[in-house]
Amino acid sequence: MILSRLTIHELQSLIRTGGATSSDIVQSVFARIEEVEGRVHAYITLMKDHAFAEAARADQDIKAGKIKPLTGIPIALKDIVCTKGFLTTCGSHILYNYVPPYDAMVVQKLREAGAIFTGKTNMDEFAMGSSTETSYFGITRNPWDLDRIPGGSSGGSAAAVAADECIASIGSDTGGSIRQPAALCGVVGMKPTYGRVSRFGLIAYASSLDQIGPFTKDVEDCAIMMNAIAGYDSQESTSVPMNVPDYTEFISRGIDGWKVGIPKEYFIEGIDPEVNEAMQRAITTIEGLGATCVEISLPHTEYCLAVYYIIAPAEASSNLARYDGVKYGFRSQDSIDLLDMYKKTRSAGFGAEVKRRIMIGTYALSSGYYDAYYKKASQVRALIKRDFTEAFTLCNAILTPISPTPAFKIGERMDNPLQMYLSDIFTVSTNLAGIPGISVPCGFTKGGLPIGAQFLAGHFEEGPLIQIAAAFEKYANIEKRRPNL
Ligand code: GLN
Repeated sequence: MILSRLTIHELQSLIRTGGATSSDIVQSVFARIEEVEGRVHAYITLMKDHAFAEAARADQDIKAGKIKPLTGIPIALKDIVCTKGFLTTCGSHILYNYVPPYDAMVVQKLREAGAIFTGKTNMDEFAMGSSTETSYFGITRNPWDLDRIPGGSSGGSAAAVAADECIASIGSDTGGSIRQPAALCGVVGMKPTYGRVSRFGLIAYASSLDQIGPFTKDVEDCAIMMNAIAGYDSQESTSVPMNVPDYTEFISRGIDGWKVGIPKEYFIEGIDPEVNEAMQRAITTIEGLGATCVEISLPHTEYCLAVYYIIAPAEASSNLARYDGVKYGFRSQDSIDLLDMYKKTRSAGFGAEVKRRIMIGTYALSSGYYDAYYKKASQVRALIKRDFTEAFTLCNAILTPISPTPAFKIGERMDNPLQMYLSDIFTVSTNLAGIPGISVPCGFTKGGLPIGAQFLAGHFEEGPLIQIAAAFEKYANIEKRRPNL
């Protein structure tokens, strides 16, 4: 039995029955990292010594009968969440040497739940991208086909789970960065409701859209991770003081009698035929579970990308103003005065995509254009949100594709930002509306690339989302395959 291949819940029962120690599991994960990381490059920083030391501690707890939900389980963190004493780069040159003095709240919560951290995963610079190709630290490759991208921006976290280089991981999703890489790497990924998981210690990209969520090997593990990370945090002003249910209770409830909305605007020309076929099969699966699929309309869908690509860069341009060479990170050394130092630091410290976003965002927020762009986009955003509120009066959940195509080739879209932005066409609406979404594997292309299905539900309905995703996962019975690495 190869421990790195197992799920959290399988490892939990092994730990409980004495079938494996945490040290065995960490050993197995690092052996796997040794074997494949040179080809996949899922990580920016490995925390090997720390992980082994923590595993030894976990094993003492286990011996003493102190077992928590994630005790001894190796988990990877996207390099956008702050880790006290460990490099946190956000995939950027400008933070290439940044070691935070504190832990993000998710890190604290995972540690309290017993998790062991394996390292910090690669990502698009400041989470801007859909392919993990804009990282200062090099690209991550898709474990299913090393010539292809893993999706992004949390491509390292998705690839690490798919390649068994950790058991589960953490990502962040501003416009699809958990769900899209999960789909392209054949794992489960959830973006919770805005406000459900504390963003304290998450390096900000677009603050009205960012959410933290898990990548896991199956839906039950997603529920276990959500139990650990969800909940109110008084240090975070957008965190919502609502009770967190036990998400694992939703796993085997089924969806008999449910209505599942199929938004006609998401089944458009230009979707890859194999993705389309997989979606049709998903609809049949849902109906086989005793639910009814009903056609619904989200009439403002055509504006989602345009609205997102105004709001996200606008907020990013403001959030990224703090990287000036004074407070942390990289500083250009050859400047003649303060202004010159700012300019040279930011010119050399940020990559091309980040600079593009800062320029678009600054332009959209400038006094002459604010009303025409940012204000207009915010108004349309309210309509997009209303579309979902109305849709959820007609159905319990919505089913859509995640990505119009399976994983594309490395380099294919790097010269064409618009084409790259189009990868996000089915994911950005969720963030604009603030609702939760989950990506579940729903098949493979003939060439062996994973395809994902997306389920969406109303605000704070992560439980029902886990319910439908778990029912789907079980009944669809997608062939269990592993990337051939
Ligand atoms: N691809 C989108 C962007 O570049 C979404 C990224 C994300 O969710 N962090 O903004």
